[in-house]
Amino acid sequence: MLFDLGGVLVHLDYAAIAAEAGALGVALDAASLPRAEGRARRAIDARAGALGCVPGTDATRVPSYFEDLLEGAGVSGAARDALVARLEAHHRDRNLWRVPFACARATLECLHGAGMRLGVVSNADGRAAAILRATGLAAWLDVIVDSHFEGVEKPDAEIFRRALERLDVAADAALFVGDIVSIDVVGARNAGLRPVLLDAAGAYEDADCARIARPGELLGLLGLGSVGEVA
Ligand SMILES: [Mg+2]
Repeated sequence: MLFDLGGVLVHLDYAAIAAEAGALGVALDAASLPRAEGRARRAIDARAGALGCVPGTDATRVPSYFEDLLEGAGVSGAARDALVARLEAHHRDRNLWRVPFACARATLECLHGAGMRLGVVSNADGRAAAILRATGLAAWLDVIVDSHFEGVEKPDAEIFRRALERLDVAADAALFVGDIVSIDVVGARNAGLRPVLLDAAGAYEDADCARIARPGELLGLLGLGSVGEVA
């Protein structure tokens, strides 16, 4: 079983984003950010749909992701632009995708205990393994594939093939859990894996694949019971 990292095992540090807004005197409710991320994800899909491919790279998509996130949270105009610049600087210094979902560790532990080989495939900037170690999630993972070191990003099938080869698992025996349709669901299908969409924001009611709201729901999907969790 393969997982995306950002938006699936860890999420944005919403409190840190609200603190950056506060430092600029911008009113922003951290509680509005998870749902606003749904807007940011769908904006990526809309651009990909219009162009026939996902535009740019993970690095070039980060500023527009922050723009769409803040618009969704009610911050626009000059305040939005100033806050995006501040978030970009913060993210360069310390990756903002760093807070593990409350159920992520227990879910990985349960899947590992069930005998599954586990890995991460992340469009990232070379910091995926460090985030997974810092959050304690790396302990359950057999492979971590960071696009920065591979020279290829999702939705290209090649990055999934490399992860599967290192796990020694066939594509048709694997699941991939991701949070953005045009990158993760399309990518998984490109490589022959069954996609599962983690839709924490409830933004993808029209999804044409399995959909869960948090990592722990994966256990129910696989008939492995549940973990006591929230968030
Ligand atoms: Mg993601």
